[in-house]
Amino acid sequence: MTTINTVLGPIAPEELGFVAIHEHIGYGMPGSELDTTWWKTPEQRYEETVPKLRKFHENTLSYGGATFVDATGICNGRDVNYYQSLSEKTGVHIVASTGFVGGDTALPFFERASVDYLTAQFIHEITVGIGNTGGKAGIIKVGVSRGFKMKELDLRIYRAAARAALETGVPIFTHLAVDAEPAVEIFAEEGLPLDRVLFGHADDGVSQGKVRDRWIAEQGGRIGFDTFGYDLELPDPPFWGRPRQERLEHFLGYLRDGLVDSVLASADANCSPLGWPGVKGHTVNYLFETLFPALRENGVDEATIHRIFVELPADFLTMQPHSTQTRAAATA
Ligand SMILES: [Zn+2]
Repeated sequence: MTTINTVLGPIAPEELGFVAIHEHIGYGMPGSELDTTWWKTPEQRYEETVPKLRKFHENTLSYGGATFVDATGICNGRDVNYYQSLSEKTGVHIVASTGFVGGDTALPFFERASVDYLTAQFIHEITVGIGNTGGKAGIIKVGVSRGFKMKELDLRIYRAAARAALETGVPIFTHLAVDAEPAVEIFAEEGLPLDRVLFGHADDGVSQGKVRDRWIAEQGGRIGFDTFGYDLELPDPPFWGRPRQERLEHFLGYLRDGLVDSVLASADANCSPLGWPGVKGHTVNYLFETLFPALRENGVDEATIHRIFVELPADFLTMQPHSTQTRAAATA
């Protein structure tokens, strides 16, 4: 069975259509939901989010489907009931993630959790469901804690993610592509092929000079150009912003060098940020409004755009349980 878990149930790869591989319905630091300064009513959240998803759906019509992968994970404002209602009303497929943005955003409850405990938690969310929503996770989020260096809890989460990915077949995406050596080592030790991992934010402003993205690509990992739109040209750019042209050149370098199959791209925008103001004017629709015209101007053809936003993410998101394949082969 080749399927992808969305919050409304499994779908076939052909149904995904256009995929924004790293986005957020709403992202906030753990506890922000308790801060009255930032607390949003459900009405406000729908009001901020629905028009952006409707526009995304409209922009993707010619691709035969719209898929929004929510990279929020456990503890950062993930709300699957809400995602289900958004998906039903807008027609956008929403893929939810299990896992954590990083060890430093996992609530203290998980701090001492063993690799086995975390693995079981991820597998439960992928195969049984997230809470009592019936919605299952379709991807696992992991990440590097603040400071650009893997912490012990990060490593534990990466190992648990690798085991859950092998068992269930869902892929992994990472927050930050810095300090990738220990990550690559863990995935190798666990026997997870590196094309099941998207090393995210390889293109952000603060990581430059610290990301060995070509080395990761050589090892077979996928490179995330997934902060498109966080441009220093914005009126109020975030600290991870980068000059628009510099990011574009970085990306085009991969295409010119024949490495298109190594990349995936997205905007990492928040439909309705939680506990912070977000970045005004930045939405997932940047891809259609600004990125694609810039790519076309630089001679990138429609087939390449289709490859990066339809074919490659479909291959990546389709569940490929390696351990069961290996076991089947061993007993055959
Ligand atoms: Zn993100």
